[in-house]
Amino acid sequence: MAASENTPTAEDEIAKTDQTVDAYDKKCIFCQIVNGEMGTELLHNDEDVSCFRDIHPGAPHHYLVVPTKHVGNCKSLGKEHVPLVEKMVETGKEILQKNNVTDLNDVRFGFHWPPFCSVTHLHLHVLAPTSLMGFLSRFVYRLNSYWFVTADQLLQRLNSMS
Ligand SMILES: [Zn+2]
Ligand SMILES: [Zn+2]
Repeated sequence: MAASENTPTAEDEIAKTDQTVDAYDKKCIFCQIVNGEMGTELLHNDEDVSCFRDIHPGAPHHYLVVPTKHVGNCKSLGKEHVPLVEKMVETGKEILQKNNVTDLNDVRFGFHWPPFCSVTHLHLHVLAPTSLMGFLSRFVYRLNSYWFVTADQLLQRLNSMS
């Protein structure tokens, strides 16, 4: 990297870190969870994605699907992350089916848009059934809000990037 380069913005720094930091951030709670250090039950764990229950469920079924290796929030993603996000969605659907959620029309899959994320490790919220979401969670995971994007909206955004 040339020393004469323009001073990068904070956002560039974050994006760069996300690509170069490999795998594990020891201060990150989700890295600790997927590495089995928190005693959290992993409902799914492979080299790409892992899944566990949200500790503050916003619906009868509320799972978090995360990349097993540390990846930053959705604002730092690019087109190259499309296969990862698609795999996260697929895993979310499988987990729901394993837990007897058969109506995949009554589900919500999405991401909190920065800065509305409490954990920087990318995580997909999988909630079902949406018809049983409480008032507060309807707000926190609200469609077409500026703090929550659905998985489809994120994929559309990433696919439209050059
Ligand atoms: Zn992490
Ligand atoms: Zn979140």
